[in-house]
Order: sequence, then C-alpha cells, then structure tokens
Amino acid sequence: MKKIAFLLLLTAQISFGNAPFWSKTGHRVIGEIAQEELSGKAKRAIFKLLDGQSLASVSNFADEIKADRKYKEFSAWHYVNIPPGKDYKDIEPGKYGDLVVGVQKCLDIIQNEDNPKEDRVFYLKMLVHLIGDLHQPMHVGRVEDKGGNDIQLQWFGRGTNLHRVWDSNMIDDYGMSFTELSSSLPKLDKKEIKDIQQGTLLDWVKESQLIADRLYDSVEVGQKLSYQYSYIWWATVETQLQKGGLRLARMLNGIFK
Ligand SMILES: [Zn+2]
Repeated sequence: MKKIAFLLLLTAQISFGNAPFWSKTGHRVIGEIAQEELSGKAKRAIFKLLDGQSLASVSNFADEIKADRKYKEFSAWHYVNIPPGKDYKDIEPGKYGDLVVGVQKCLDIIQNEDNPKEDRVFYLKMLVHLIGDLHQPMHVGRVEDKGGNDIQLQWFGRGTNLHRVWDSNMIDDYGMSFTELSSSLPKLDKKEIKDIQQGTLLDWVKESQLIADRLYDSVEVGQKLSYQYSYIWWATVETQLQKGGLRLARMLNGIFK
C-alpha cells in the first residue's frame, strides 16, 4: 500500500514538473499590469464578477484546475502549435481546440450578460491566464518538440528544457515578487501603450510565433545555460509580460464598456 502511495506521489510530481506553464509570477505580473490599465467601468464590472479578487490573484486558476480531470478538455487551450513559416489560418485546430479557440470562447461567454455569473467568472479567469500564455513565446512553438518541452537543456547545472526556461527558470531566478517585478518594468507613455495594444489576436499569435523561431535558434540541445542567457533575453521577457498585461486590459475594456 505504502509503495503504491509513493509511486502515485512520484508520478504526480513528475507530471507536475513537466506541466507547461508560465511561472505563477509571470501570470500574476500580467494580471497586475492589466488591472492598472482597466477603465473605471471594466474595473467595477470585474470587481463584481470576481467578488473583489484581483486579476493577478485569479491568473493561475487555469493551471490549477489541470490537477482536476474534470477540466481535462481545457488543457489544449494553453498553447497553439504552428509549423515554421505557416500561419494560424493554415492549421486545423485539434479536437479540444487551442489557444485561439479558447480565447474566442472566453470572449463569447463573458460578453453575453445573459450567461450565468458562474460561467462568466470561469471564462474570465481562463481568459486572464490564456492571454498570459499567448505571450510566453514557447506556447506558440512547434508540435514536434511540444513547444520546446522536448529540447533538453541545463539551467545552472539542473536539468530543464527550452519551454521551462521561458516559463519559469528565468523569471523565478530573477527573484522578484510579482508586485516588485510589475512595478520595476520600464515606464511607457500613452502612445507606447496604445501601439502595444493594437492588432488582432492573430497578429499577437504571429508575433509570439516569430519570437519562438528565434528562441529555437538561441540554444543547442543539451546546452548549459546560466547568467548569459538571461542577460541576452531578459528584456524580451519584460516586454512580453508588459504586452500581455496591456493587451489583456484592452480586451477587458472592450468587453465591459
Ligand atoms: Zn497555462
């Protein structure tokens, strides 16, 4: 009995360890930035729906429910795989959809005030998370290596992979809380904010896909990464967090107007 429990624990840990997600901190930063950019109307509507919880505090909900098999069908929404040189329109979404399908579904449900509150709340929490994932470029990676999960690397002497370097290794090692990190990001003026918020969902997918292309070229399989990698790429991490937050705010301001 003990042995079985141990094995279960081990498997749970292994699958948890491989689970692809932007670090909790990254998602919270995106929620925090979005919260700051909400219109008064959106802020009030969201406050009501979330019973006073902040966007940062619900931003990891979609990863947390992965532990419950009941929500299995949503796991395909955290990413979209597009072959290099192709566009989203060239691919066929899988049976359970993908990031783009997921975001669209969230918008549909949240927008319709006739939907039950609990549904609007569920899909609002999902949306906050998915817009975060969309801005982690390796969530728009290639199918053959599972968005970089199969590209094994070392991070300061520990085993990792390209997906995880971008999900969490760099952000976690930066050592800031989500509030510290969000307030330390470069200050942008109105015009810069507006420029970032422009574009369609598919433009943003393309942007992440093109960054992912560069990230695939940024490492050799088995490479030992350390300070230099963060030194080169940290500005990109910051930009992606900022873009994710500002675009999420734009979407939410558009819904609750
Ligand atoms: Zn995710």
